[in-house]
Amino acid sequence: MTTSFMAGMDPLPRWSFGRVSLLGDAAHPMYPVGSNGASQAILDASCLARCLASTPSVAAALAAYDAERRLATGAIVLTNRKGGPEGVIDMVEARAPDGFGDIEQVASYAEREAVVRGYASIAGFTQAQVNQPRQGNPGAG
Ligand SMILES: Cc1cc2nc3c(=O)[nH]c(=O)nc-3n(C[C@H](O)[C@H](O)[C@H](O)COP(=O)(O)OP(=O)(O)OC[C@H]3O[C@@H](n4cnc5c(N)ncnc54)[C@H](O)[C@@H]3O)c2cc1C
Repeated sequence: MTTSFMAGMDPLPRWSFGRVSLLGDAAHPMYPVGSNGASQAILDASCLARCLASTPSVAAALAAYDAERRLATGAIVLTNRKGGPEGVIDMVEARAPDGFGDIEQVASYAEREAVVRGYASIAGFTQAQVNQPRQGNPGAG
């Protein structure tokens, strides 16, 4: 991993062109919040391998990969601009700029959890999503 600056770009309208496609930061450069960036490149690779293994034509496999991953990662690109799960920190700072004695008085556990778990769901990081059985990952599930 050689990325050395923080940058994001608008989601692309297309990744796959015949037998050529994009993956990782080339496909979805995003602000690296919420343990993301490289994590999504790994999910891209998993999806790409599954599509190539299950689809006879390479072009059709890359189109299927594009269809599955492009919209999913586009949502993360846009969410990361708002801070991702670290948005909890911004929320608490905005409500209590001078500090606080009891976090529950500023933002309840349920409210904080909703931000973090909501992001995990968009990113594909919930326990159920990670354990989803996939071809080549028979131990999951
Ligand atoms: C500060 C910071 C913190 C981050 N923290 C996290 C984190 O906690 N979790 C996480 O998942 N992600 C994180 N990321 C994001 C993560 O680093 C990137 O998403 C990841 O590196 C993307 O991998 P990649 O292989 O797609 O691209 P890169 O890692 O950028 O690899 C691309 C490679 O292609 C090479 N290359 C470029 N042009 C050419 C060319 N013409 N010919 C040959 N080679 C070329 C480059 O030299 C590079 O080696 C962070 C990023 C930053 C900047």
